[in-house]
Amino acid sequence: MPSYNKDYYQILGVSRDATEAEIKKSYRQLALKYHPDRNPGDKAAEEKFKEASEAYEVLHDPAKRRLYDQYGHEGLRDSGFTGFRDFGDIFGAFGDIFEDLFGFGGPRRGRSQVQPGSDRRYDLEVDFVEAALGTEVTVEIPRNINCTTCQGSGVRPGSRKIICPVCGGRGQITQTHGFLRISTTCSRCQGQGEVIAEPCPTCQGRGRVVGKKKLSVKIPPGVDNGIHLVMTGEGDEGILGGPPGDLYIVIHVRPHKLFRRDGDDLVFSLPISFSQAALGDVVSIPTLNGNKDLTIPPGTQPGEVIRLKGEGVPHLKGFGRGDLRAEIKVTVPRRLNERQKDLLKKFAAEETPHKKLKQPPPAKGWLEKIQDFVGSLIP
Ligand SMILES: [Zn+2]
Ligand SMILES: [Zn+2]
Repeated sequence: MPSYNKDYYQILGVSRDATEAEIKKSYRQLALKYHPDRNPGDKAAEEKFKEASEAYEVLHDPAKRRLYDQYGHEGLRDSGFTGFRDFGDIFGAFGDIFEDLFGFGGPRRGRSQVQPGSDRRYDLEVDFVEAALGTEVTVEIPRNINCTTCQGSGVRPGSRKIICPVCGGRGQITQTHGFLRISTTCSRCQGQGEVIAEPCPTCQGRGRVVGKKKLSVKIPPGVDNGIHLVMTGEGDEGILGGPPGDLYIVIHVRPHKLFRRDGDDLVFSLPISFSQAALGDVVSIPTLNGNKDLTIPPGTQPGEVIRLKGEGVPHLKGFGRGDLRAEIKVTVPRRLNERQKDLLKKFAAEETPHKKLKQPPPAKGWLEKIQDFVGSLIP
């Protein structure tokens, strides 16, 4: 009876229309990761290994897969599918898959050579507006790949590895000290028992070369400095069939001339004149989506903040956007012409409160006076 009720496609991380090769590849990666030899005593890894094996058992067999696609777990149960009892069962069934990874079914030759590829980090500089609105960029990422000349073996094509001359192929060096016999791993062959006599000319025997891969990276709207985008399987290639590492793209946002970010709010400083602050105005300001009108209410004070709702950066997780915040800077004119000076003096005479303390309140409101005053400035 099937032991797992989880979706087999999900377990293997493949789509429902995955090819046999994709299913096999995915299973190999999982089997390698959760293999009991690599995770001794780890019950969770053991479960994953068994679960993946059962999923593979069903999906790689066209008849079982059809049954499962049509009738699910129940269909398999009714057909008498029993799943696996233990590891022995699994290795018995898929020995060929582990053969080239671990060397099961014979001596465990070359087993330590199989390694997952390393993860890689790539620092990506993104334009401020692109980070806010999202974009797609093409990057060339250097990464270690298996040498194609020698298929990663490091051996010159046409030649073979030879028995290690130091340990005679045993992979171990045994020394006798009186009654003690001490065995150490052979340093010449690293315990492999074989060495490369003629190294591959392309990779000088390393089996690996640095390759570049063009990748298209989707930058989601709202990314900010320090955010990591993970691209699964785009790191270094695995060694001799090991799974590839992942690529971590670290985002660096170039500063903007005008805007800065405060979370998902965009902040900028808006210089306005004294008369605009006092009388109010409607000004056109830049936003991420072109120019928009911003209403400055009469009596706006320096340092006040006026918000344009929803004109900030889109939230990276979820819907909606931050706000645009205009920080008001009231500017004072450095030079005035004679007429302006004259008018300002008149205004000052009207506004100075201590000179008027004992007088009745002015007939006109303060605002109207300023309006008159500013109106008079316009020739
Ligand atoms: Zn050796
Ligand atoms: Zn090579």
